[in-house]
Amino acid sequence: SITATNIKKTFGAYTALEGVDLNVPAGKLVALLGPSGSGKTTLLRIIAGLEFADEGSGRIQFHGEDVTDVPAGERKVGFVFQHYALFRHMTVAENVAFGLNVRKRKDRPSKDEIGDRVNKLLKLVQLDNLGKRFPTQLSGGQRQRVALARALAVEPKVLLLDEPFGALDAKVRKELRRWLRHFHDEINLTTVFVTHDQEEALEIADEVVVMNNAKVEQVGTPQEVYDQPASPFVYNFLGNVN
Ligand code: ATP
Repeated sequence: SITATNIKKTFGAYTALEGVDLNVPAGKLVALLGPSGSGKTTLLRIIAGLEFADEGSGRIQFHGEDVTDVPAGERKVGFVFQHYALFRHMTVAENVAFGLNVRKRKDRPSKDEIGDRVNKLLKLVQLDNLGKRFPTQLSGGQRQRVALARALAVEPKVLLLDEPFGALDAKVRKELRRWLRHFHDEINLTTVFVTHDQEEALEIADEVVVMNNAKVEQVGTPQEVYDQPASPFVYNFLGNVN
């Protein structure tokens, strides 16, 4: 599970998170849903260790272990952003292997082990045979699947996705969403998925965390937040979904 407790974050005079709690049970996929500026990305970055909560506030635990003071590189998280951050001058296979190559010397796998691992990962994201291509020779959806394979290469305990399909067209988004759901269950990940798209959150998530103005407005299953909105904000925000 992922547990974040009392996360406060200010940027100068601006409050981005006002003492937020989050709990993601092991094996679940939770969507952080909210309008632009509500604090979703900031919360995700704090869970990843890319950013720290304000002094004296906030604890983060992964599967019961306190990682609040553990640096990002040692937290074993997989991270995928909206804009594919693939290296253009590296092949697909080299991109996927990247996280394995930069690990500290001691636990760095051998060349053969890395090769095997990359092949397995490419199979998992259904891109076997494309390992020798370069990112420019792939579709947007294929690139995001490479980004996922790369995130999974270090066998993360938790997977954090920040609008991973945001830059893709509606049809591809829909396909990848279904595929991610399937794939998440198959390898038993614990995932936080940030989106501002109501339909996406309701379709993909086990639980939806609705954020607004630096706070959590409501937590519930897609059905619960849709049928029993806890506030006028949630009602209006989810009201746009057909
Ligand atoms: P979006 O959907 O647009 O990505 P979000 O819900 O993810 O929005 P955040 O990116 O978490 O929102 O930002 C929350 C607020 O904190 C915003 O008002 C943003 O401008 C502010 N903020 C985020 N990072 C910084 C920073 N490094 N310095 C100053 N303000 C910041």
